Amino acid sequence: MPLRFYNTLSRSLEEFVPIEPGTARVYACGPTVYQLPHIGNYRTFLFNDLLHRYLDWKGFRVKFVMNLTDVDDKTILGASRQGVSLDTFTEPVIRGFFQDLDTLGVRRAHVYPRATRHIDEMIDIIRRLIERGHAYVADGSVYYDISSFPGYGKLSRVELAEVRRGERVAADEYEKSDIRDFALWKAAKEIDREVGAVWSTPWGEGRPGWHIECSAMSMAELGETFDIHTGGEDLAFPHHEDEIAQSEGATGKPFVRYWLHVKHLLVEGEKMSKSKGNVFSLLDLRERGFRPAAIRYLLLSAHYRHELNFTFDGLEDAQAALRRLVDFLERLERTHVADDAPTSSLGDLARTVIHAFEEALDDDLNVPNALAALFTFVREANAALDRCPTVPPADRQAALDALHRIDAVLNFIGLARADARAVDPDLAAWVERRLADRQDARARRDFATADAIRAELAAAGVIVEDTPQGPRWKLGS
Ligand code: AMP
Ligand code: ZN
Repeated sequence: MPLRFYNTLSRSLEEFVPIEPGTARVYACGPTVYQLPHIGNYRTFLFNDLLHRYLDWKGFRVKFVMNLTDVDDKTILGASRQGVSLDTFTEPVIRGFFQDLDTLGVRRAHVYPRATRHIDEMIDIIRRLIERGHAYVADGSVYYDISSFPGYGKLSRVELAEVRRGERVAADEYEKSDIRDFALWKAAKEIDREVGAVWSTPWGEGRPGWHIECSAMSMAELGETFDIHTGGEDLAFPHHEDEIAQSEGATGKPFVRYWLHVKHLLVEGEKMSKSKGNVFSLLDLRERGFRPAAIRYLLLSAHYRHELNFTFDGLEDAQAALRRLVDFLERLERTHVADDAPTSSLGDLARTVIHAFEEALDDDLNVPNALAALFTFVREANAALDRCPTVPPADRQAALDALHRIDAVLNFIGLARADARAVDPDLAAWVERRLADRQDARARRDFATADAIRAELAAAGVIVEDTPQGPRWKLGS
């Protein structure tokens, strides 16, 4: 079975046929860097990680781009409230975002373009849109004339009401009930000047609208037509609808082949909102003692187009499921092998699970089915090992290989193990202190003390290696 995606544009499952055979070019709408993303955002970002890893697994040459929205209504307001420049305001948020990605075991995209670094490309698209009769200047701002683009509404299936034509909306985010000409470029306001979010253009000073940013960054990185564009379901209208109108209006070419949208995460059955106090960050969950791998597991465990209701009970269950996977891997690693052991069913089970896993993910990235196959494998392989604890080396290797291949996509076990090995910062500080004491002792030629400290560290499981650059250390396994 070939790889299929549900394409929002056609409202149907379609075989994935990339523009250039063997290459997949993907653009994901990234975070608006005015505050650290919440776990709902991370549902969408982890979906992107799954897509990235699975395209890789299938053998595509992947170029994966995720933008950072560092200039929009929210970032400008945030910078102004803190009385700092836009860059100063967004810098720590961007840093925190990358830390969160590492914590959640997300493979890095190939590029993370920042909107503020692509203003020239935005201006160029707007210039082309004006030339081609899709945009007009009004009071120093530039608006997209939606009546000039017959395809407007094809993604989100919104209906253009005649009465709205010629009316304008300047906000970055607006409702379906508010379909109007939208801002490509916004004339500079006092608040924009205050935070340094002002650029010169043929139409005067100002700053870009949010939608033009993604048209410019995606086409700059991936070309005028590319394969896949993703985002949360809320972005289909107006953001992605407007991106299509801008890009296709400027180039006269199709913009994107496949549009993938992730359903929003609920928390304890409710929409996340500040007023309900149910907006959790990654740190909030970690402070409650939940491991990153369990959070990754929970956020990826539902199909991306189905509802996922985040609950603390669900997180406990994810932690238990993960434990089962890690226990199984450890059991396999400890399993005795003998060349003359009777052939076990592990080899067959390994082939079956890889086949079922691929079939599930080929079907529009159906993670629940992939997990069902994985846990069937764990159950049956455990039963086989109960019956016959010593197996031929090739059987054990086949089971290990299957588990590792699957985890190259899911990264549940890998992340759980990396987390278990992660060094407690208090321990690290103590080790550094004792190593400094040891260096002092050596400088005094007090080798007895130096050796005693080394023994003390070894007793704590710390392995010290002396290098020309000074001592290095790691925790023994
Ligand atoms: P933003 O930082 O608001 O631009 O959002 C970043 C990404 O997270 C976008 O793709 C949003 O559609 C997505 N997103 C926002 N809220 C949720 C949610 N509750 N569940 C899943 N994805 C979300
Ligand atoms: Zn976007």
